[in-house]
Order: sequence, then structure tokens, then C-alpha cells
Amino acid sequence: MLAQKILAVLEKVLHRNGTQVLLSEPIFRGNEWAYVKDCLDTNWVSTVGGYVDRLEEMLAEFTGVRRAVAMVNGTAALHLSLKLVGVEPGDEVLVPALTFVATANAVAYCSAVPHFVDSEEATLGLDADKLRDYLSGIAQASPAGCRNKVTGRIIRAVVPVHTFGHPVDLDPLVEVCRRFRLEMVEDAAEALGSYYKGRHTGNWGRAAILSFNGNKIITTGGGGAILTNDEELGKLAKHLSTTARIPQQWGFFHDQTGFNYRLPNINAALGCAQLEQLPDFLEKNRTLAKRYEQAFRGLEGVEFFTEPGFARSNYWLNVLLLAENQPPAAESSCESQAAPGQGLTEVERLRDVVLKITNSRGIGTRPAWTLMHKLPMFGASPRMDLTVAESIERRLINIPSGAKLSNSYV
Ligand SMILES: *Cc1c(COP(=O)(O)O)cnc(C)c1O
Repeated sequence: MLAQKILAVLEKVLHRNGTQVLLSEPIFRGNEWAYVKDCLDTNWVSTVGGYVDRLEEMLAEFTGVRRAVAMVNGTAALHLSLKLVGVEPGDEVLVPALTFVATANAVAYCSAVPHFVDSEEATLGLDADKLRDYLSGIAQASPAGCRNKVTGRIIRAVVPVHTFGHPVDLDPLVEVCRRFRLEMVEDAAEALGSYYKGRHTGNWGRAAILSFNGNKIITTGGGGAILTNDEELGKLAKHLSTTARIPQQWGFFHDQTGFNYRLPNINAALGCAQLEQLPDFLEKNRTLAKRYEQAFRGLEGVEFFTEPGFARSNYWLNVLLLAENQPPAAESSCESQAAPGQGLTEVERLRDVVLKITNSRGIGTRPAWTLMHKLPMFGASPRMDLTVAESIERRLINIPSGAKLSNSYV
């Protein structure tokens, strides 16, 4: 029974003493208390204070970008980035169908239309070759930009997502952007600490975003950032996220409709303390990934996802991929659930059994996100063939991740 074997491997790797293991949880073992206390002691808790500048400097240094601008969350960072690269109402933006909903939502906030593209199995991210072939058929370069011949709209930008921290194959995508005159905004929400060909992710797009939500590799409670090598864009990001206020001694003057998207100082304080520990988190995540890889090797019908050769991943959220072809009915028979399993393929049924028995044993696992085009608000959006994303959706299971788990084994 493969599901039972998967459970046994997880039990072995996680070594827990009957305690629950969450899918991912934050870890506060550095200067978090000291920095947050400093905010409270000095009364600098809100939109002004030294920790915001410090976090931005630390982020720029760590990722190698010219400018990092702290934001209230990753979704806001995406929204603003898309605006800053020129996404206008009525434009289309290419987004993988396999992503967290925030990626597509941010496009909708611009009154633009997400256009869903397929992923590749080697990276779990956007398939640049398939996108090039697709665009060659439906798109045409025009003075106004890349025109979708089918819908008549301008395709303004593409948003590759470094899924679960695994870098997209960016070089061929840069080529596609050049050829079709697309702007690139990297959704690196999950990819802090992940490198593509030796350079930190977020350096390929005109802008990139990070998230510091509670489940990400570092957290500020809620938070995010825009990364960019374009100084002007960075300055504008800061300006627009600060209600487009022109600094004055007393008065208030705003030169356009801005946003209240700045990260509060108290959150930034948490971020500075977390970022100090990131190298340690990364090392621990790799150790856990190695353990998983070894433990799942030789188990037929399932594979632990590992980084491709060009990437160094942060292993933010660990991934199991079930093989598409599973022996019929072997798993479902032991579960004798009547209705819910109906209409599902064998591999989906297996996935659901794994999710059920692991979670019921206190091991946090979850399936892939429902693909974006299957959500009611995006059902009418244009999309290309999504065969690979659909296969990944059926077969993917996220398993417990994070530096905290390095305690459970020696
Ligand atoms: C978390 C996440 C976001 C959004 O970040 P928030 O800080 O939660 O707003 C965007 N895209 C992806 C892929 C994410 O995982």
C-alpha cells in the first residue's frame, strides 16, 4: 500500500515523539524580542522608523538587487509592481495556472486580465519553451506592444512564480520577453534564498516581489517587498506605497493616487531579526530535503522533488510527486469512501488517501493549489494548453517543511 509506505517514510524522517508536525511554522530564536521591544520602547511602531530602512538594505544586500522596498504584504507588492511596469486596464498578463491566488488577483486589481500558462515538471514553474511556441501562434508584436490576435488585447507582462522556492528556468524566459516585448515581474514570494545559475532569484525581472507572511521562509507577521535593479522604479515604488506624498515640513501634498502599502516599523524589526537567521534556515532546510530525498529513494510510485542542476533552492515547502500511473483501486479499497472519490483518477484517489492518513496522524500535508482557471472569478480568462499543470495538480503533495524540523532529528 503506497499511502501507508509514504506515511511510514514521513514518520521515520520526522522522528517526532507523538507530537504534531505542522506543514510549516515560523521560528523565532534570534533578535526578534530585542528588536520588537526596541520599537515599543522608542514608540517607533508604525510607518516611520529605522528598521524599515535597515530591512531594505539587508534585503538588497542579500539578494544582490539595487533596491528593495518593504511592503505591507506580498500581494500589495505584486499589485504595485505590475502597475510600475506599465500594466493598464484591459491588458493581459501571463501568469502560471499553478500558483497561489494572489498572483492572479494582483493582475485583476489592475483591471487587467490574467492569461494562464503551463508549467514544466522539472521546475514546477513556467515553461518558457512552450510559452514561446504558444505566443508565436497567437501573438504579434505591434508598436503598442505584444498584441493577442485572438482577444485583441495587449499582453503587457509575464509573472513567473518560483513555486515552493524552486527557481523557474529564467534564461529562456528572458529570451521570450525580449522577443515578444513583455515586461517580467518575478513572483519570488516563496523564493527568498533561492538562486538561479548562482544569482539570487528576483534579478531577472524589471521587478520582483517577496512575501514575509507567517508561513514563508522568514516572516514579519505580514509583509513583503519589491526588489528591483531599476533605481527609478524603486524610487517610484517607495513613493507610491507612501500615499504618493511629497515630503514637506508640515503640510500634506500628494502628486497622484498612491497607496498605503508601506511595511510598519514593528514588522520590519521582526524582519531584520529573521533575515539575520536566514543562512541558518537555508542550511537546515537543505538538510531536511536531503533526508527526504534519501528516504523516498527506492519507493516506487512517488518522488521527492529536487532542484534542477541550474538552481539552488531554499526548499521552502517540500514536494512529493506521485507517479501518474498508479495500480488501479489498490488504495481506495482500504478507504471504502463511497461518494467523494468518484470521478477521480487513481492518482488523485491515492493523493487524497495520503492527505487523509497523514493529517489524521498529525503530520501536516496539503495538495497543490486549485489551478487558477478553475476558480470562478478566472474561469473566463484566456489560457493555453495546461496539460502539465493539470498533471502536477493531481499528483502533488506538500510535506512538512522548515528549519524547526531540524530539531526532530540529529
Ligand atoms: C504568499 C504568496 C503571495 C502573496 O504574499 P502575501 O504576503 O501573502 O500577500 C504571492 N504569491 C505567491 C506564490 C505566494 O506564495
